[in-house]
Amino acid sequence: MSQLSRNTVVDVFSRVSSSAAPAYPLGDILLRMPPGNRSHRISLFCIFCAFSSAAAVAQSTHYSVKLEPDFERQLLRGDETIEFQADAGEIEWQKQAGLRLAIANIANGEVTVAEQAVRVRLRSGGRHSLKLKYTAAAGRGIQWFAGAAPHREDSQDSGFATAFYCEAWMVCDNSPGQRATLRLEIVIPFKEGGNLGFRAVGPGGPGREWRGRDGDHFVFEQDDPVQTYLFSFGVARLAVAIDGMFSIYAQRMDANRAAFAKTADAYNFLRAAASVDPLNAHYTQAFLPGRGMGQEAAGMALMSQDDLTNLAAKDDVQLMAHELAHQWWGVTLGIRSWSDFWLNEGFAEFMSDAYIEKHQGRPAYDKQIAELQDRMRKLREEGKDRPLHWEKWKDAHEALGQIPYVKGALFLDRLRTELGDEIFWRGIGLYTSGSARRLVDSIDFERAMEMASGRDLKALFDEAVYR
Ligand SMILES: [Zn+2]
Repeated sequence: MSQLSRNTVVDVFSRVSSSAAPAYPLGDILLRMPPGNRSHRISLFCIFCAFSSAAAVAQSTHYSVKLEPDFERQLLRGDETIEFQADAGEIEWQKQAGLRLAIANIANGEVTVAEQAVRVRLRSGGRHSLKLKYTAAAGRGIQWFAGAAPHREDSQDSGFATAFYCEAWMVCDNSPGQRATLRLEIVIPFKEGGNLGFRAVGPGGPGREWRGRDGDHFVFEQDDPVQTYLFSFGVARLAVAIDGMFSIYAQRMDANRAAFAKTADAYNFLRAAASVDPLNAHYTQAFLPGRGMGQEAAGMALMSQDDLTNLAAKDDVQLMAHELAHQWWGVTLGIRSWSDFWLNEGFAEFMSDAYIEKHQGRPAYDKQIAELQDRMRKLREEGKDRPLHWEKWKDAHEALGQIPYVKGALFLDRLRTELGDEIFWRGIGLYTSGSARRLVDSIDFERAMEMASGRDLKALFDEAVYR
């Protein structure tokens, strides 16, 4: 997501609900624990810090979610099936307090529902499916757009978007180490007098849509497993345009021709840098009525209508390129834990600056880097500096702070200067293509850059990444 919009989105969402479950570097914690101690230690964490995790070894493999929005009450009605593989023992998924379960069923086990978790005690290991029905109120991770009550759905700008926190609108395992496939169906119910004119936009490529007796149906399928924070989607009064592998959803389509051309140019630049195709063959940009948005998802990005205007009229390519870069650094390569969030955000930030250099010339790149240096100076003055690889997150808010963006992009610029363009870009390609469809950490990146340069970069990485 973009740093600017992240603040807006998180702030807006946290004002609505302060009780969201923290995202947590579960992988790292598990790795540091002796195996025999795991359940015990994790249950202690749960008691002391509302820490959400899976106690038994479990992998959620597929989520099937059907949602029906109630615009007037700003509520989502959900029907969900989680397919997962697990040993006997207790498994846990996250949910926010505003997500209220009506039904939770599983064969071969017992379900208990806590304020911010759903737990299942399984009598046997193997493949299982958990079936859930619920309602989800507005919370951190769901932004309902403007519209005056009592007929919010009548406004041109009404609708909503979900961003980052899947536990706001579904029961999910939100740890980055867990990746799953998704089938998401959104049903916009008819109102007396006809349909409401809303369209849904979601992850996984162009969706299917049809008109049923109960309303308009929109289905999105993500067939390659991804982290659940990449499941975001939006619903608004949107037109859609498709140009080959790119789609644009927006309220006003006057700028789409320019946007397609700029997106294709940035795609070609990023594809060359990555040396590998992104996980999703199709890329959708949704420009929604909400302000200050910028959230990557699998095969798509959610932005604001203003961003489309700025992209076309002012040639402001930064957010477009940043979100597009996440299709490689974020979606195709997934970070193993939040400790290495800079491998998503530092890369997306740096790649958008590198694209700006290609698009607008070196002085434009130098200006971007100078601005980052200014921001870094301020962060140091405020005592907010810390290593890029950081395992001491208290919650997702901290993990999403400015350091991964600013310090991460500056470190990549420094590596580029230190190694020279040819070796640096060869290393970026080696790292990206070599780690595609895998979970990564800072060591994977260090190894690829060492291989490309033939140099021992330990001292440099120790200083910039680990200390
Ligand atoms: Zn980002």
